[in-house]
Amino acid sequence: MIHSLRPHIVLALLLCVLCIDICVADAASPAAPAAVIEPSLYSPEDNVQILNNDTLEEHLYNSSTCNFVQFINYFCGDCRRYAHTFKQIAWRLYDWRRLLTVSVVDCAQERNVQICRDYNIRQTPTLRLFPPHFQRNEQQIGFDVDPHEPAAIYTKLAEYMAQIKYTPELPNFEPITATDNQLTLQKSVDYCNTISYIVLVYQPVGTTIGRDLIFELLRWPIVAVRQLDDQLLFTNFGLEPSAKLALIDCGGNALALQPVADTTEAYVASVTKYLQTVGHMAEPQLVTTPAPNVTKFSLDGEQAAIISTVLHGQPKVYRADLEQAIDKLLHIELPKVQVFKGENMLALQQLLKVLRLFNPLNASGKQLINRLSDFVNSIDASGELSGVAFQMQVENHERKLPKVFKSKRYVGCIASGPFLRGFTCSLWTLFHYLTVESAKSTDLPPGAVLATIHGFAKHFFGCGDCVQHFMGMAERRKLFEVKNADEQILWLWEAHNEVNERIAGDSTEDPKFPKLQYPSQELCEKCHNPTWNRKEVLEFLKSVYDKKNLSSYGLPTPMGYD
Ligand SMILES: Cc1cc2nc3c(=O)[nH]c(=O)nc-3n(C[C@H](O)[C@H](O)[C@H](O)COP(=O)(O)OP(=O)(O)OC[C@H]3O[C@@H](n4cnc5c(N)ncnc54)[C@H](O)[C@@H]3O)c2cc1C
Repeated sequence: MIHSLRPHIVLALLLCVLCIDICVADAASPAAPAAVIEPSLYSPEDNVQILNNDTLEEHLYNSSTCNFVQFINYFCGDCRRYAHTFKQIAWRLYDWRRLLTVSVVDCAQERNVQICRDYNIRQTPTLRLFPPHFQRNEQQIGFDVDPHEPAAIYTKLAEYMAQIKYTPELPNFEPITATDNQLTLQKSVDYCNTISYIVLVYQPVGTTIGRDLIFELLRWPIVAVRQLDDQLLFTNFGLEPSAKLALIDCGGNALALQPVADTTEAYVASVTKYLQTVGHMAEPQLVTTPAPNVTKFSLDGEQAAIISTVLHGQPKVYRADLEQAIDKLLHIELPKVQVFKGENMLALQQLLKVLRLFNPLNASGKQLINRLSDFVNSIDASGELSGVAFQMQVENHERKLPKVFKSKRYVGCIASGPFLRGFTCSLWTLFHYLTVESAKSTDLPPGAVLATIHGFAKHFFGCGDCVQHFMGMAERRKLFEVKNADEQILWLWEAHNEVNERIAGDSTEDPKFPKLQYPSQELCEKCHNPTWNRKEVLEFLKSVYDKKNLSSYGLPTPMGYD
C-alpha cells in the first residue's frame, strides 16, 4: 500500500510548517541570517530561464514552443562543470527561440523537491525536452536527451522538434503535397504580412537538408521554408524539375537559387545572400562573452570569521555541518524519491537505523530520527512508501518537536565562493563521523556503515558523477568485503582521498580549501612516514571524527551565533 496524503492536506500542512518556520525565524530575528538570495549558475542573459516549483508547469503548460529544461543540483560537480557547455548550447539555441525555450530547475533547493519528484529527477544534470502545451501525467514526464555534447544535442532536438505540428505562424516541417502550389502555400501562412518569402527546398530521401535549413533560417521570421520530398513538385511553381532550392517573393515571382554545394551551409548562404541583397536583415544573435557569469558573492564579517577559525583552529567536526547534512537528507534528497519500495526501502531503513544509533543531533533531532526510523520499520518488507508520505512524516514530527535544526549554515564546510563545498562536504563529514562512532559500538556488524553509504549513493544521491565514481570505487576497492571496524574507517578515508586526487585543481575546488591528500603533513606529521602510516592515520581520524571533538561553533545561541 502507498502511504500518501491528499494534495490539499499536503499543501495545508506545508503552509503550516512554513508559517511555523517563519514565526520561529522571526522570533529569533536578532540572530536570524538575512534572507538568502539563491545564487544561480545561469541567468536569463544566457537565454536560460530560471524556473522552480511554482513556475515550471505554468511555463510548460502555456507554452506554444518546445521547452528544453536542464534539471541540476547546484552542489553536483558535474552540473557546475557542465554549466559552461550548457551556456554555449543555450546561446546557440537563442537562434531557435521561436520554437524552443531553454530553462533550468535546481533540484537542490528545498522548494523544488516536489517538482523534481514529480518529474522523477534522480541524477543531475538531467536534460528533458517537452512539446508545446505539455501536460504531465503518469506516463508523460518529458523526453530525456541523453548525450550532453552540443552537436548531438542539436541533432536530438531537431529530430524531435521536426515531428511536431506547430501553429500556422510557426515553421511547418511537413513536406508539401502534390496538390500544393503558390496559392495553397500562401494561404497556409500570413503571406505578405509577416511572411515575405517562401523558400522551397528539396530534401532527398535519407538527408536532413530541408529540416536543417528550417532551423538555420529561424532567425529570418519573414521566411517560411517548405520541404519537397519529390523534385518534380518544383514544376507546381513554374520551376524546372532540376531545381533544389527556390524562393517565391511577395509578388509571386519564383526564383531558383544556385547554392555552391548541396550542404546546409551552402543553402543557408544562398538564401541569406539573396535576402541581404534585397535589403533584409536577420534577427540578431545573442551577444555573449565566453566568461562564466560571476555571481555577486562577498563574504560578510561573520563568514570571514568562520573561515579563519576553520582554517587556523584545531581540526574539528562542526555540529552545524552534521545538522546541514541530515537536514538536507531529510528535506531534499530523500523526499525527492517517488516511491520507496524493495531495495531502496531497505536503503532508507538502514540509513535511518545508522543515524539513530550514532545521532549527532540535539534531543529533538534524536526523537525525530527515532520516530522516522520506527515509522519506516513499521512498513513490512513488501510494502511501499511514497516520497510525499515520507516528507509529510518528517514535517509532522518536526512540527511537534522543539526546533531540530538550529542553523542553515555550514561551518567546517563553509565556502569562500558560490557553488563550492557545502552539502557534499557535510556528507563526507557525516560519513566519516559515522564510521568512527560505529567503531566504538557493537550494535552494527563491521562494514554496515559502508553498506549504508553505498545504499545512499545508489538510491538517493542526486550527484550523477559522484554516484558513478563511488560505485566504481565500491567495486574496485571491494567495499562489501570490509569486515573490520577500523578497516571501515580507513576504507572511507582512502576512497575520499581518491576523489580528492581526481578532482584536485578543477573548477569545483575552493581556493581556500584546496583538495589535498588528507591529513596533510601539517595536520598529522606522523601519518606521513614517508608514505602513509595507516596506524597513525587511523588514530588521527578517530580523534578528529570523535564525538568528543564535536564543536557547536557557528550554531545560534540566545545571543546570536557562537
Ligand atoms: C560519496 C561522495 C562522492 C563524491 N564523488 C565526487 C566525484 O566523483 N566528483 C566530484 O566532482 N565530486 C564528488 N564529490 C564531492 C566532492 O568530494 C567534495 O565534497 C566537494 O568537491 C566539496 O569539497 P570540499 O573542499 O568541501 O572537501 P570534501 O572533499 O568535501 O571534504 C570535506 C572535509 O573532509 C575532510 N577530508 C578531506 N579528505 C578526507 C579524507 N580522505 N578522509 C577524511 N576526511 C577528509 C576535510 O576536512 C574536508 O574539508 C563526492 C562527494 C561524496 C559525498
